[in-house]
Amino acid sequence: MVHNFSAGPCILPEEVLQKASESVKDFNGIGLSLIEISHRSKPFIAVMDNARSLVKELLNVPDTHEVLFLQGGASLGFYTAAFNFLKENGKGAYHDSGTWSSKAIKEAKLLGHVDVVASGKENGYSELMLDYSIPSDADFFHFTSNNTIYGAQWQTIPTSECPLICDMSSDIFSREINVSDFALIYAGAQKNMGPAGTVLYIVEKELLGKTGRNIPSYLDLSVHIEKDSMFNTPPVFAIYTSMLMLEWLKNLGGVKAIELINNQKAELLYNEIDENPLFKGYAHVNSRSKMNVTFTLTDASFQAKFDEMWSEANINGIKGHRSVGGYRASIYNALPLSSVQALVNVMKELAIVTA
Ligand SMILES: *Cc1c(COP(=O)(O)O)cnc(C)c1O
Repeated sequence: MVHNFSAGPCILPEEVLQKASESVKDFNGIGLSLIEISHRSKPFIAVMDNARSLVKELLNVPDTHEVLFLQGGASLGFYTAAFNFLKENGKGAYHDSGTWSSKAIKEAKLLGHVDVVASGKENGYSELMLDYSIPSDADFFHFTSNNTIYGAQWQTIPTSECPLICDMSSDIFSREINVSDFALIYAGAQKNMGPAGTVLYIVEKELLGKTGRNIPSYLDLSVHIEKDSMFNTPPVFAIYTSMLMLEWLKNLGGVKAIELINNQKAELLYNEIDENPLFKGYAHVNSRSKMNVTFTLTDASFQAKFDEMWSEANINGIKGHRSVGGYRASIYNALPLSSVQALVNVMKELAIVTA
């Protein structure tokens, strides 16, 4: 068995992969593949309906909000968010926690005024800057709940007088949230929800249509709401596999249950990083992510040995992002505690063989 710590696309549960692959051959015994039937056929409409209602159920989405499965990745989400919430001559307040929020800021600047209220750039984004104030005339406040690359995560969801917008790509469904706090949540599927190819949007309906802008159809969330996520051909396989993943999560006891497991996994790994003199954490202790654990060796001369050892232990995907270096263990929902234990064992073993 391979212990898959990949940062994205992410690990999926074996049973999800099994069902997803069967659907490509023969979808639910209809004699046709999921990927060769009309997205407007009854069997696929049932998939879309089920996927959307699982999101509503798992996250307790109130009736004020709508759930959509769209395309373009979270990267198009940066622009879509701004198009739907940044008023003509208005202003967006952004929190910069690294690569992904920086990209969101860049896209919003194409449309209008952006106020970056805090940035962790000076300290290599190892810490979330929590000393900021949101201008009273901001149309919205945008933040990235978990920085996948630097391993820094908001420990609690910020509050804001103006509508709150969150790129939740790498920690959605990992912990309980209160959806009614948000005007918009968007999340690329491939970090913690499914395969690449679809993006989840959860949006407060009443807040749409107030920017005074002409919005291109695909970027207009109202259009997608009106068409029940079927404005154009949806990415059927990505949505189906995400649906399977959400069913898996529901069977496991939902978000509350997975949050407890996620806490255990993170605690196990951070304890080892803190106790083992050969390792040190990258992210500031107060900002530590429970999804992406970033760390480095205290003595780089042990790198070859460590790399050989984890690779021999069937551990995959822990090389750090090219912009940070070191290591990054992504411990998303589908990664079992036993895989974290396997990594911790190798870290302990390294201390023994190099002593
Ligand atoms: C990966 C990631 C993105 C980019 O997602 P794409 O689907 O590749 O566009 C954006 N935000 C966060 C937090 C991510 O982890």
